[in-house]
Amino acid sequence: MIKKDSIIKLLNKLPSQLHDIIFLSRELAKKEKVGVYLVGGFIRDLLLGKENFDLDMVIEKNGIGFATKLSKILNAHLVKHRAFGTATVTKKDGLKIDIATCRKEFYPNPTELPIVRQGSIEDDLFRRDFTINAMACHIDFEKFGQFVDIFGGLRDLKDSRIRFLHEGSFVDDPTRIIRAVRFEQRLDFCIDTKTLSFIKQAKKMKLLEKVQKHRIRDELILVLKERKPYSMLKRLKQIYSLSFINKNINLSKNLKRVFCDIDKACMWFVSNFPQRRILDIWLMYIAAFLYDLSPRVLFRLLNKYAFFRGDKKRIISFKKEFRKIDKNLSMERLPVIKLHNILYPLSYEVIILALVISESQQTKKRVREFFLKYHHKKLIINGKDLLSLGIKAGPEFREIFQKVFRAKINGKIHTKEEELEFVKQIISR
Ligand code: ATP
Repeated sequence: MIKKDSIIKLLNKLPSQLHDIIFLSRELAKKEKVGVYLVGGFIRDLLLGKENFDLDMVIEKNGIGFATKLSKILNAHLVKHRAFGTATVTKKDGLKIDIATCRKEFYPNPTELPIVRQGSIEDDLFRRDFTINAMACHIDFEKFGQFVDIFGGLRDLKDSRIRFLHEGSFVDDPTRIIRAVRFEQRLDFCIDTKTLSFIKQAKKMKLLEKVQKHRIRDELILVLKERKPYSMLKRLKQIYSLSFINKNINLSKNLKRVFCDIDKACMWFVSNFPQRRILDIWLMYIAAFLYDLSPRVLFRLLNKYAFFRGDKKRIISFKKEFRKIDKNLSMERLPVIKLHNILYPLSYEVIILALVISESQQTKKRVREFFLKYHHKKLIINGKDLLSLGIKAGPEFREIFQKVFRAKINGKIHTKEEELEFVKQIISR
């Protein structure tokens, strides 16, 4: 068991944004006379010395009431989830605190969502996935720093072990199998032997196949947002198989290289365009992972797993367009305006994937060139400028803009004055 003083030392070493919230919560707990705990991944990472800015708190009674008061003290945004007795407090600097009432869960039917009741801290820890995620630390006034470790989480943390809390764990919630692999690979731990044997049993019972698809989707996306997604998929295949996602799914050797190349291409993109929007790297991984499925199977799968519309659109667009893009971009002669017309309507993710997957050096070169030289090019003049030159609004506008843009992208004109002059030349012809 870890001593109170050691925990307080660790809490005192936290960055000031976290430290301040914890100490303000301690004051509030004293005023409200209620037990407050830090729990879950935050405690795990605190003990591992890993940075974690997602504070997870549980309150013995009325978590939403506590969250409401804390949000006022912190002048932060509050979202209540009444049905679950939880709330999320988000500070202006983006820091997020998840607050819940201690709860007890019952699983009336295997693999379905549980019934939730208010419970003790012990109940709350017992409903969790693994011992290393089932430790808590008091932050209420008198017991501040006192450590709660009922299931031997600290020992497992020291022994680098992922261990479930009870034998019914995967029957209650099979998504924990995916979580076990995620934590094992992320932390370089090992799934404990007994836990592993229950995963094998879960496989025989096809438990993951019975879970609601959107929950599988969320867990898979979490896997793909990790730093080692390929090794996680490989391990999942090894201990369970990936056919629960779709029977046609395969984890080709080539995919490892593709994931690696996606990382490199994204690093190249971010270092060249730091101010552009953040890339959805997980989406590129999944588009590559599912690429060998036929368009029909892919479309069905994305619908079945209820992927969001924008995500689905990008994944399908890559499947449908890649061959055509690659064929056009690998041609010997390709006018710049054509390159622009092909790539500009596509999302960054689709374009970067094309760069990665294509085997043509010409395609790769052209994609890079497009981003570096042409992607940002836009006309400065607009409709008003054309009207001021006496041109009537109508289909002619589009034609003129296209001509001016072609001249601009070919480097013949640069400034607004040059664009206007070019328009004058067009209309005088
Ligand atoms: P990460 O570092 O990936 O954010 P985390 O441990 O904080 O990991 P969350 O998914 O944020 O994980 O969940 C918070 C806590 O809730 C976990 O630490 C765990 O105790 C519990 N938990 C989450 N999902 C489950 C689950 N499916 N079954 C049981 N407990 C869960």
